[in-house]
Amino acid sequence: MTSFRVGVIGGGQLARMMTPPAINLGLTLKVLAEAEGSSAALATTMVGDYAQLSVVEAFAQTVDVITFDHEHVPLHILEALEAKGVSVQPPSKALAFAQNKLKMRERLGALGLPMPDWAEIHDADSLDSFIEAHGGVAILKTPIGGYDGKGVRVVSSAADAAEWLSPEGLAKVGGHLLAEEKVDFTRELAQLSARTPSGQFRAWPLVQTVQQNGVCAEVLAPAPDASEATLELAAEIARGVAEGLGVTGVMAVEMFETTDGRLLINELAMRPHNSGHFSIEGSVTSQFEQHLRAVLDLPLGSTQATDAHAVMVNLLGVDDQNDFLPHYEAAQSAHPAAKIHTYGKGARAGRKMGHVTVVSGNSEWAIAEARATAKLLRNE
Ligand code: ADP
Repeated sequence: MTSFRVGVIGGGQLARMMTPPAINLGLTLKVLAEAEGSSAALATTMVGDYAQLSVVEAFAQTVDVITFDHEHVPLHILEALEAKGVSVQPPSKALAFAQNKLKMRERLGALGLPMPDWAEIHDADSLDSFIEAHGGVAILKTPIGGYDGKGVRVVSSAADAAEWLSPEGLAKVGGHLLAEEKVDFTRELAQLSARTPSGQFRAWPLVQTVQQNGVCAEVLAPAPDASEATLELAAEIARGVAEGLGVTGVMAVEMFETTDGRLLINELAMRPHNSGHFSIEGSVTSQFEQHLRAVLDLPLGSTQATDAHAVMVNLLGVDDQNDFLPHYEAAQSAHPAAKIHTYGKGARAGRKMGHVTVVSGNSEWAIAEARATAKLLRNE
């Protein structure tokens, strides 16, 4: 009998949002969550530590393919699964580049893909010379373990990063830091795509992401006023990354658009991504459905837009009380076209707890509606 059993490691909102398409397609979705009561509790079949081989192995035995809600599963565990013939998508050799920004920069460089100038930093002198060669400023990053802007800082001298450069600081991140030129960008963009193990590839339209305090606040799909050439270039960059790094499943390539019109790769996410939440309502095939199809090596669905514009506004926690549910009634009655999603997470200031999407032929109206809905939910 044909069976389609997908095992997702990690019980966050990305695993949660894979649940509706899994139900619709009649797939079996299983989740290995780190704790009881996670966002993906509905599909959780096992609770355990993803950094323990025996736990992950036991989970893998219950499914046909292993995929991810996050990129933190240690590579040696995935390699051990692969050695036993488990299908891991994306494979460990691709995930290695998502787990380490230095490895990613090296590989993208070898492939000739566009990105900011960068260097590996191992002491204060190498950082100071990079800063001097790049106009007196640089972006310094920890190559592993960063997210939502943590592990990224602007430096104008090595003294600005003394604790990162200390022997203890360096030891925590594998001995090296990543320095990048501070890109003079006009906006941040993200190119979402999907690739199957047998090599099918599809891209969604390029989107603009708006960050506040290092966290994604809004996504505009498609990216306003992007030229045909930019849209095509972004999709070709994503194809180059996916094929060059052997990525399978959904991938987001975060990019900068520079003042002189170039696209430079910032970050890669090898999983469904915040920049693709708009696709639930804004695309014929959502990123969550596409990810399931891709990791199972099924034919990919159309990424055509359902309307001219989709706007997504994140619901970031305002305090430790408001989980947005008390304000559903007000928001839903005032904004019936807005689609509200919450992730079943406890309230905490700044936490990604949900999002709102509005799809429309009129971009200004969609932006206004999505923002107004989020405002009511925040009780402002
Ligand atoms: P994280 O992995 O924590 O999301 P990123 O590498 O995406 O970190 O960086 C977070 C933010 O810092 C970016 O969204 C961007 O605004 C800014 N940033 C990162 N790299 C650069 C760069 N080379 N030049 C200018 N700004 C940058």
